[in-house]
Amino acid sequence: MMFAPPDFFRRLPPCCRLPSLLLILLATFAVHNVAAGPPPLSDGHEAPPAVIERIDELRREIARHDDLYFRLAEPEITDAEYDALKAELRRLEAAWPDIVTDAPPVAEIGDDRTGFFPTHRHAAPMLSLDKVTTGAELAAFDRRVRRALGRDAVDYWVEPKFDGIAVSLTFEEGRFTRAATRGNGEEGDDITANVRALEVVPHKLRRGTADGRPVPVPDFIEIRGELFVSFKEFDHLNAARAAEGERPFANPRNLAAGTMKLRDPADVAVRRVELVCFGWGGFVPEAARPSDLQGFHEWLAAWGLPVVEAPEAVQGVEAAKAAIRRIGESREALPFPIDGAVVKVAAVEDADALGWSTSAPRWAIAWKFAPPRAATLLRGVTFQVGRTGAVTPVAELEPVAFEGATVSRASLHNADEIARLDLRIGDTVYVEKAGDIIPVIAGVDLTARPDGSEPFAFPEACPSCGYPLSRAPGHAVHYCENRQCPDRLARRIEHFASSGALSIRGIGPRTAEALVREAGVASVADLYRLDAEALVGVPGIGERTAADLLAAIDASRAARWDRVVYGLGLPGIGARRAQSLAAVAGDIDALLTVDAPLLTGAVDEGGAGFSAALARQLLDELERPETRRLLLTLKDAGVGAVAQPPRDGPLAGEVVVVTGRLAGWTRAEVLALLVNAGAEVRTRVTRETTLLVAGERPGSNLDRARSLGVPVIDGAELRRLLVAE
Ligand SMILES: [Zn+2]
Repeated sequence: MMFAPPDFFRRLPPCCRLPSLLLILLATFAVHNVAAGPPPLSDGHEAPPAVIERIDELRREIARHDDLYFRLAEPEITDAEYDALKAELRRLEAAWPDIVTDAPPVAEIGDDRTGFFPTHRHAAPMLSLDKVTTGAELAAFDRRVRRALGRDAVDYWVEPKFDGIAVSLTFEEGRFTRAATRGNGEEGDDITANVRALEVVPHKLRRGTADGRPVPVPDFIEIRGELFVSFKEFDHLNAARAAEGERPFANPRNLAAGTMKLRDPADVAVRRVELVCFGWGGFVPEAARPSDLQGFHEWLAAWGLPVVEAPEAVQGVEAAKAAIRRIGESREALPFPIDGAVVKVAAVEDADALGWSTSAPRWAIAWKFAPPRAATLLRGVTFQVGRTGAVTPVAELEPVAFEGATVSRASLHNADEIARLDLRIGDTVYVEKAGDIIPVIAGVDLTARPDGSEPFAFPEACPSCGYPLSRAPGHAVHYCENRQCPDRLARRIEHFASSGALSIRGIGPRTAEALVREAGVASVADLYRLDAEALVGVPGIGERTAADLLAAIDASRAARWDRVVYGLGLPGIGARRAQSLAAVAGDIDALLTVDAPLLTGAVDEGGAGFSAALARQLLDELERPETRRLLLTLKDAGVGAVAQPPRDGPLAGEVVVVTGRLAGWTRAEVLALLVNAGAEVRTRVTRETTLLVAGERPGSNLDRARSLGVPVIDGAELRRLLVAE
């Protein structure tokens, strides 16, 4: 529980303690669902294991997506899909209220703290708004407000809801002293240096006037606002990234959030992130607060801060709806992204009287716009087999122009999703993107359904290997349990080669499939047995590609151990857990002998801090003969010999390429030595290369190094360099 009023306010400095809740006002943005679950069905019976598992799965999945969204600013799913996961969890939790799983309960507010920045404690919490999407829900909000205030009609303040990253700006005696992210609502990342680099916040609040009267500057105020990126800047930066071969940002929100989490303010300064201010948190002295939001809006402008354009002061809920409609109509023409409107009770006195629920103010609500959608024809459904054997249906669509791209495929998730949508081939479907990466099918136009269409049947056998598909009771996903399934193997190899793992350039989805089907690669360890003969002739691989691929595979022997652990794709082990596992089992031998106490032990006592269930799952996998064989083969190939690279090694900062044969060393040994000495090892000489180590029979890298003026040393010199230190 992140918000516990009495304790929280005792921790505030005395100047802010005053009449507790009254101090907190406008804190906006991260929006959460107000899904009301059905009454408990449990009736004192124990929940079936499938339900417990599903709740556990949902909690983990939601936590993962929260992390991707809030902390990393790299969401994998749309807001609508996220809301669906959360609604399912709320439904199950309402039906079985007492279930405890290894996964922690889902936080009401996603935590955006990165661990890099210092932590800043907000003087007044920075919470979320409840969310509505229909007129009926808005009317219900209005009824609650009117009942609580004993009034027939209430004055509202309606403004657009910017789609960026929430920020809290502290001013003391009018001087800007701190900028912080929402964090978990109580504590956020201190991003003062990054915000200063943007030059969007004045060093000092201006002493201006509103309505002909001087505007007071409070002793202490937390001004709440949003940092955002315009569509123009978004397009501009993405074009620059594309030119550099970098992955583009998915949407302006991710760009804004990602930028504010950059570690070097100089990198922040070159991007045009803008600011808009609309609320306050802590305010001292309280008596100096404005009497309504109209007044505060004028104060913000008088202080020299950027404010929301064209907010509306309206009376009653019908007028608020009309104002929301106007904001919706203006949306297309706006140069920056908004994803809804915020309706706030205008009078501060009324807001004080309404107060807060445990997680959101009772005096404000967020109206979320329906995401943009496009209609097109469902031509067919194909199936993809993932690394774990999960079979995912993919909708094959009549290509349609949508949100600046052509969409011809969309994710369907699982059989339940197909059944829920009652999807049939030939249907006209709605595609949604909600500002995210992968389009999804949001609904079916039943009026356009052709006669005689049949409900869709999920296949019974794996589309890749023909193995019968299985589905655990209560689970939505079908699995191919065949570990030798070609598609599963290809996905494992792709994962092993991915940039977060061993980062082997040149192994994408197609190459991975070709390696499995045409080059006899049956495990990730087989990659290290490949030679030019086996590769040349595989579709898409010529001599040049084969040489590049072999060099990249070779260099991957020097990948850091935690990346190898992640690349293995062990059950439940994502990138972050891979670091914990790599820390308790420092090499392949240690991984082969790791035990439950080590896995479940507390982190500060040298354990990995895993749950008992995860440890069991992991040990089951590690005890499998195939897994043990795989690990031993990787060890023989010299993979996983490199621990954490030191920052101060003798070759720290050097970008090194090795070419030719070095007497007395195996290739894997050289690479491990280099990386352990702090060098970054690459396969080809470029302008960035700072050192070439050339042995016998060097390749074209030597010529390139000479023409670029890159220093060249031989094996003996390398030995001296490493041993001398
Ligand atoms: Zn299969």
